[in-house]
Amino acid sequence: MAIDNTFEGLLGESVKIHGHLCPGQVLGVKMSRLGLKKIEIEDPKGKDRKSLIVFVEMDRCATDAVQSVTGCSLGHRTMKFMDYGKMAATFLNLKTGRAVRIVAKEEARGKAKEYFPAAENKYAAQLEAYKIMSDEDLFETMYVKVEIKPEDMPGRPLKRIPCEGCGEYVQDMREIYKDGKVLCKPCAYGGYYKIEGKSFSKQ
Ligand SMILES: [Zn+2]
Ligand SMILES: [Zn+2]
Repeated sequence: MAIDNTFEGLLGESVKIHGHLCPGQVLGVKMSRLGLKKIEIEDPKGKDRKSLIVFVEMDRCATDAVQSVTGCSLGHRTMKFMDYGKMAATFLNLKTGRAVRIVAKEEARGKAKEYFPAAENKYAAQLEAYKIMSDEDLFETMYVKVEIKPEDMPGRPLKRIPCEGCGEYVQDMREIYKDGKVLCKPCAYGGYYKIEGKSFSKQ
């Protein structure tokens, strides 16, 4: 099946994956197209698929659009989630080292209303306006240098080691050396969960 690389084609694909059409899809698709162009990646899901890593700085609607257009994903280790809460992403060409960080301009939100003053609400205005606004109106772009550690690259895990606290295995060199022990992050620093009971052990 031929890939439709037009804006409309990519947006349609992204909406299918994300589940609805929203300003984030429009922004994410445009951001990705611009990012790929700036680092000279033409075929992110085909011949260039091993040359690309994307860092996303938000876990919002636009993130799904970035995944859809670039084909990058957490599971392939080609999408890195940086929890900054910013509407921004960096596109890195591994072959050339060229990287561009693209940030959605805050002013674009206000401008959207000027484009479509009669729109039902802010959200509807943004959705339509983002489609026709230029990349310059929508985004700030900057060339950046990004260094990726070997343990963060796609490919087989470099290391697997058991935590001396909980016994669970830690891969990709995420273990912590603390007080002479090898620990997982939750055992070393506290995790996002508290164990309340294990299903297969006696209560
Ligand atoms: Zn959405
Ligand atoms: Zn542990």
